[in-house]
Amino acid sequence: MRIVMKFGGTSVADIGRIRNAARFVKREVDDGKSVVVVVSAMAGETNRLVALVKDAGPPAPALDARDIEYDAVVSSGEQVTSGLLALVLQNMGYRARSWQGWQIPLETDDAHGKARILRIQSPPLVEAIDGGEIAVVAGFQGVAGARITTLGRGGSDTTAVAMAAAIGAETCDIYTDVDGVYTTDPRIHKAARRIDRISFEEMLEMASVGAKVLQTRSVELAMAHKVRLRVLSSFDPPDQPGHGTLICDEDEIVEKKIVSGITLQRDEANVNVLSVPDEPGKAAAIFSLLGAANINVDMIVQSPSRSAGSANLSFTVPELELDRAVALLTAAKDQIGFSAMQSDKNIVKVSVIGVGMKSHAGVAATMFKTLGDKGINIRNISTSEIKISVLIESEYAELAIRALHQAYGLDRPPAGAP
Ligand code: ADP
Ligand code: ASP
Ligand code: MG
Repeated sequence: MRIVMKFGGTSVADIGRIRNAARFVKREVDDGKSVVVVVSAMAGETNRLVALVKDAGPPAPALDARDIEYDAVVSSGEQVTSGLLALVLQNMGYRARSWQGWQIPLETDDAHGKARILRIQSPPLVEAIDGGEIAVVAGFQGVAGARITTLGRGGSDTTAVAMAAAIGAETCDIYTDVDGVYTTDPRIHKAARRIDRISFEEMLEMASVGAKVLQTRSVELAMAHKVRLRVLSSFDPPDQPGHGTLICDEDEIVEKKIVSGITLQRDEANVNVLSVPDEPGKAAAIFSLLGAANINVDMIVQSPSRSAGSANLSFTVPELELDRAVALLTAAKDQIGFSAMQSDKNIVKVSVIGVGMKSHAGVAATMFKTLGDKGINIRNISTSEIKISVLIESEYAELAIRALHQAYGLDRPPAGAP
């Protein structure tokens, strides 16, 4: 039986943690499994490398050229941990070797910094693991032509799921610093509860609006390829791993909740474009401009004022893209004909997610009332079939999470309760 095990940054933060990860691998290998291990860079290392790239001086003449070197630099963290884990395993008497993205090869498109996986040529690696060798794969990285690419922050999860699909693995176990997926980030709210099973659909929505425990793309891939995906803690004893969370099809879940999880996303910014002429084609002009610059827009609210013959447009963009978005719109101000623009980084997006929303009324009303009762003002709202997101001021983030968690009955029962 083949399996994939992935260890995140905190789980390989130093040699001691790498030795600990090796004990988890040992248990599976001793159990007769063919193992691919995917590793992240040591905790904090990718941030350090990103900062070095930023510090390295003026941008290269072409943005793409800079992105290529960004990938050359930031992918190196995973090269180090894959080699170190292979060494530790060898030291324990196992046959193991490291595999970089280009050695597999794990082929991606050339969207440097956020590349998508196109193909994994797995036969040599499968031959190695079926012959009893442990393959330690550097996560987060791939190759496009002759250049290294990276898969976007948190991308080792996606490497792991893609490897699992490519080799037909029985399971893909994601070992991290929490013992599963929780009803909300357990570091934000102590009353959060571990979820035993969560549907692919809900996990996908949770990841896409801030639950960074899994990269969104990894859940998408697991859903498409029916990969059995689990989230587990590398801080549990290696010989007694916990239950973790299984991400599975909805019909494998017995206990269905109306709301399964609540998320917080801090890295968005709000843009308000004021007095846009109320004419056909104006929204298209604004959003085409941003779309052409590859800036993702979300939570669009238009408030027309018929008497003034104009409308205000409010939306969010990733905080990192705010300056670019503002510069583009400012340059097109006269052409579009709006009167002014405001932007605000001091906002967060809070979302509630649950498949039960499909069949239950009143979920949105509960959210708005709960926030209203706490005096929290809602700026923008967006919904999908199984998710409601609101934009609120940053200072109310924790209060909103706590209040909503309780309102939807997600709080952990107090200690001592039956
Ligand atoms: P790794 O380095 O192992 O990939 P990450 O930091 O990327 O780990 O993801 C794990 C973190 O995700 C946890 O430490 C936790 O703070 C955060 N997190 C956010 N939302 C959730 C959630 N709903 N359930 C569990 N963890 C969450
Ligand atoms: N090391 C990369 C990051 O920090 C990839 C990962 O950890 O999944 O984003
Ligand atoms: Mg991660």
